[in-house]
Amino acid sequence: MAVADRRLDTNSRDTKNDAAELWAEVLKCLKMRVSHEGFETWFAPTKGSTLKKEVIEVRVPNSFFAEWIGQHYSGEIGSALRSLTGRELTVSFRPRDVADAANLQRRNRFLGPVVRPEGYRLQARYTFTNFIVGESNRLACAASRNVAEHLGTTYNPLFVYGGVGLGKTHLIQAIGNHALSLHRNIKVYYVAAETLFLELIQAIEKNTRLEFKSKYRSLDLLLLDDIHYLVGKERLQEEVFHIFNHLHDASSQVVFTSDRPPKEIPTLQDRLVSRLGSGLVVDIQPPDIETRIAILKQKAALEERVLPQDVAYYIAVRVKSSVRELEGCLIRLFALASLNSKPITVEVAEEALKGLVAFPEPLDQNSIISTVAEQFGVTVIEIKGTRRTKQLALARQVAMYLLRKMLSPSLKEIGFCFGGKDHTTVMHAINKVERLKTQDVSFAARLEKLASRIRRG
Ligand code: ADP
Ligand code: MG
Repeated sequence: MAVADRRLDTNSRDTKNDAAELWAEVLKCLKMRVSHEGFETWFAPTKGSTLKKEVIEVRVPNSFFAEWIGQHYSGEIGSALRSLTGRELTVSFRPRDVADAANLQRRNRFLGPVVRPEGYRLQARYTFTNFIVGESNRLACAASRNVAEHLGTTYNPLFVYGGVGLGKTHLIQAIGNHALSLHRNIKVYYVAAETLFLELIQAIEKNTRLEFKSKYRSLDLLLLDDIHYLVGKERLQEEVFHIFNHLHDASSQVVFTSDRPPKEIPTLQDRLVSRLGSGLVVDIQPPDIETRIAILKQKAALEERVLPQDVAYYIAVRVKSSVRELEGCLIRLFALASLNSKPITVEVAEEALKGLVAFPEPLDQNSIISTVAEQFGVTVIEIKGTRRTKQLALARQVAMYLLRKMLSPSLKEIGFCFGGKDHTTVMHAINKVERLKTQDVSFAARLEKLASRIRRG
């Protein structure tokens, strides 16, 4: 206990060493309680940095680690600290990247406490208000809202599945937060399947299975995240099956999430598969471009930053697979802009995305047309259509000209891209743009800028 005694001398000269030693002890405890994979992923890259008063500050790689660890392991860390020090220390996770740390702080400041005491492990920032709805998640979101408002009566269980970073945890936590705002006294519990597994193992080891059971059985709303983790864990499946049956019989609501539908979770016992799928099963798909832009804008607004339309578009066209990736790009963009005291522009976005986006968009007709449309403030449908306002006609002619210069298709092919226009119309457009270029210097400069933007992708 020598380590603990020294460490708790809060007037100590060297809070750095104390924090490092204390956290190293915590890690030893966690290593025994957390799965090997979980430990290596989330805890191996962490380090105690300062210990002041009742707060130990721990360095983590980025804000995502901070949130993830808080969300999934706060119970384990708290009990390790208690058993080592005999006191209630608060852990403050600090991302190594300064800009990212400021970002996390800002987010938490604006969105209230990180963890709500009434709903264990519910983060206040995961709300329906903060969830952008598009075609890809409309049904999942509507079903989630409905469940939160009619606990245990409409869809029970609700099973939400979808790929990584598409908003499953956000939605399932939003259900908890919304339900709690409607009914103050209900018992809500959010738990990731991995944490449930740890709780179960502890209960078996410590002979506290009865407490474990009664904790789960007394809930009004159980939010069980990432249930695909049950694969190959027979004992856990058994337990989930019984917990679910009990809650269902008592008309308590259960919500599950997974990265795939119940039937596709291998080695899941048949009776559990049929239980999981017995209510409503809904999926979340990757968001479409409009939704991606809306998400980027909303995240920027939460950070109190303005994201210009062309920058939002630039990122949204390139980052398609997950919302988490979109967020990552935005964080990098803001960090780069602040560190270099630059405004937020497409050039900075290009820098921020370097190395993050695996495959640059190939130069194709769609990207040329959409970039021109965006620059002229019209839509792709309008530019390809037949309506002829002055602005639309010019946008169309410029797009035809750039297509010809950059991809060298035939006039007929260009006409085809624009809803089957005649090749003479295309010829006329190209000639007109050539003429304007020689007559109007500012038009020529604008055209050149547009072309280089398209080339950069
Ligand atoms: P999953 O659990 O499916 O892996 P998360 O719920 O953790 O994904 O989402 C990743 C990040 O993206 C979170 O910060 C979440 O708030 C955000 N997010 C996902 N979908 C949306 C959305 N439709 N609107 C706003 N934010 C979203
Ligand atoms: Mg998740």
